[in-house]
Amino acid sequence: MIIRNVRILGGEPVDLRVVDGAIAAITPAGQAAAGADGEQVIDGQGAIALPGLVDLHTHLREPGREDAETVQSGTQSAARGGYTAVHAMANTSPVADTAGVVEQVWRLGREFAHCDVHPVGAVTVGLEGRQLAELGAMADSAARVRVFSDDGRCVDDAVLMRRALEYVKAFDGVIAQHAQEPRLTAGAQMNEGVVSGRLGLTGWPAVAEEAIIARDCLLAAHVGSRLHICHVSTAGSVEILRWAKSKGWNITAEVTPHHLLLTDDLVEESPVGAYNPIYKVNPPLRTRADVEALRAALADGTIDIVATDHAPHPVEDKETEWSAAAMGMVGLETALSVVQEAMVETGLLDWAGVAERMSVVPARIGRLSGQGRPLEAGAPANITLYDPSARTEVDPSAFASKSRNTPYEGMTLPGRVVATFLRGTPTVLEGKLV
Ligand SMILES: [Zn+2]
Repeated sequence: MIIRNVRILGGEPVDLRVVDGAIAAITPAGQAAAGADGEQVIDGQGAIALPGLVDLHTHLREPGREDAETVQSGTQSAARGGYTAVHAMANTSPVADTAGVVEQVWRLGREFAHCDVHPVGAVTVGLEGRQLAELGAMADSAARVRVFSDDGRCVDDAVLMRRALEYVKAFDGVIAQHAQEPRLTAGAQMNEGVVSGRLGLTGWPAVAEEAIIARDCLLAAHVGSRLHICHVSTAGSVEILRWAKSKGWNITAEVTPHHLLLTDDLVEESPVGAYNPIYKVNPPLRTRADVEALRAALADGTIDIVATDHAPHPVEDKETEWSAAAMGMVGLETALSVVQEAMVETGLLDWAGVAERMSVVPARIGRLSGQGRPLEAGAPANITLYDPSARTEVDPSAFASKSRNTPYEGMTLPGRVVATFLRGTPTVLEGKLV
């Protein structure tokens, strides 16, 4: 196959020759020999070529909530968003806390997925926070689990967190912490601040996140293990991470697209009215000052990666009164556009920086050898073609995801994923699933 006229990381136009799922040659545009007999030729039309995106934080909902999402629909959504690999979070039903369940998800991925699926293992049995799950058995299973998380819940017991960090060192695993001190956030509905005070909703203080991040950075340093912080949302968390990284500790962190763009005042006033649960998410949307701090931290590397926290929910769980609504937003199909809006259009990141934070580094944290590789001869042909000049009005009814809970409905966002290739096989062409 030849992919003509693409710009790697926004550089000069080139042609890519793909053979047996890998990039065989890269030549200046127009100089590649005509396609041999039966060779497929794809016109890239000057699109930017990025290494296939890798998400460290996706909720695929299977097994258990196939009404919200399945491995098939969730990975179709991922492919549409330019992803070639996702990590499937463990808070399914049953919970992915044994070798049996992670192998089940891994097999579903092999059979039905439109991108690579890497199951995340639970840290504690049933996400209950009382006893460690079979971390070693999950690591040794066919799923080769390296990322462990109770995401949705915090591992708040310091002794359990210490033991988990110690345990995963044996196989180079990482604990991904959902940092939320549960007692400080009992009944919390939105960011604690001026807006929550005006609306009379129970506040979710920044300190509940920051206290756990500080504790876990100290614990990870104490036992010499790898720690990853999920969905950082406050300026204070950024300060703690900056300090911890200055010590040389082995700590990484992610931010979601929505925390780079949206603020808590949308709960009070928005194009879709007040108290609209479309904005209800965990951790909550914060203030403009937090958004600015998160953008600066992603730009300077204090926050390492963007992860979607794609959290599909069916309509009945979302279109209800605020206090009863489920927390979370879908994000796979809009992530790259939101990052363009928040980080590229603002001059904070170039396309090489985007590739680092949405492909190269997430693959490294997840220890995925075949993903997140720079686009050069010999690399697997995991490729995302993206047209940053397009402008698209977000239409949830067109999503590949089974769920529609996007906060961007009706908004015009920059950019469009034109094509996605998984080891040379197109999963998306002309913006449509193959
Ligand atoms: Zn979470």
